[in-house]
Formats: sequence, structure tokens, C-alpha cells
Amino acid sequence: MEDCLFCRIVKKEIPATVVYEDETVVAFEDINPVAPVHILIIPKKHISTFFALEPEDDAIISRLHRAAVQIAQEMGLKEKGFRLVANCQRGGGQLIFHLHYHLIAGRPLGWPPG
Ligand code: 5GP
Ligand code: ZN
Repeated sequence: MEDCLFCRIVKKEIPATVVYEDETVVAFEDINPVAPVHILIIPKKHISTFFALEPEDDAIISRLHRAAVQIAQEMGLKEKGFRLVANCQRGGGQLIFHLHYHLIAGRPLGWPPG
């Protein structure tokens, strides 16, 4: 999508600090981190929210999760752990309507989240 910020990051039209990339997924540092580790993991395909998922997207969701695990392992988070969060729709805190997970770690993470 032309006017989607994350599609523009996928196309490298907007710079980002990419930490992981494959044919399906890109992961990059959040511009406004809420923790010492704050990575956004997104599909290259434009999917606006979870509500827009189609059955053929099942493999994409799996890839996003496996990318999160790989990034976490590479960042030494296997023992310390991390949080994988997805905000859905405005009421769920979603600001960018291109599906993404936040991988957050590096400080104590309270529960329930705010
Ligand atoms: P949401 O609220 O939609 O779940 O999360 C959107 C995230 O995108 C926010 O954490 C915000 O800081 C991040 N973000 C917004 N604009 C940019 C940008 O231009 N570059 C990067 N790397 N992150 C961004
Ligand atoms: Zn997009």
C-alpha cells in the first residue's frame, strides 16, 4: 500500500534499523522504544489488522512468530525472556494499520499491561 508507513519501510523508501529480514518478514527497531529491546516484526505483505487475515496468511503468522524466536535467541533472550505484543484496532492501541508484533525485553515487564 502506497501510503502505509510500514510498506514504505519494507520497500526501503523510509530508513529503519533492520535486525532481521527474509522473503516474508522484516524486523526493525521501534523509533520510540518503550524498553531497552523494542523490535517491530512485520509481514512484507500489507495486512491491516488481525481482522483482515485470510486463510492463506497462516504461513505468514507462523513466520512472524519464528522470526521473533530467532531474534530473541540472537539477542540472548532465551533465558531472560521477552514479551510479544500485538495491538489490534484503535481501542487496542494500534496506531499503524499494517499488522505487526512488538518484541519487548530488557526491563521488568509488569502484568497486566497498561
Ligand atoms: P502500534 O501502536 O500500531 O501497535 O505500534 C506502532 C509502533 O510503530 C509504535 O511503537 C511507534 O513507535 C512505531 N513507529 C511509528 N513510526 C515509526 C517509524 O517511522 N519508524 C519506526 N522504526 N517505528 C515507528
Ligand atoms: Zn502496509
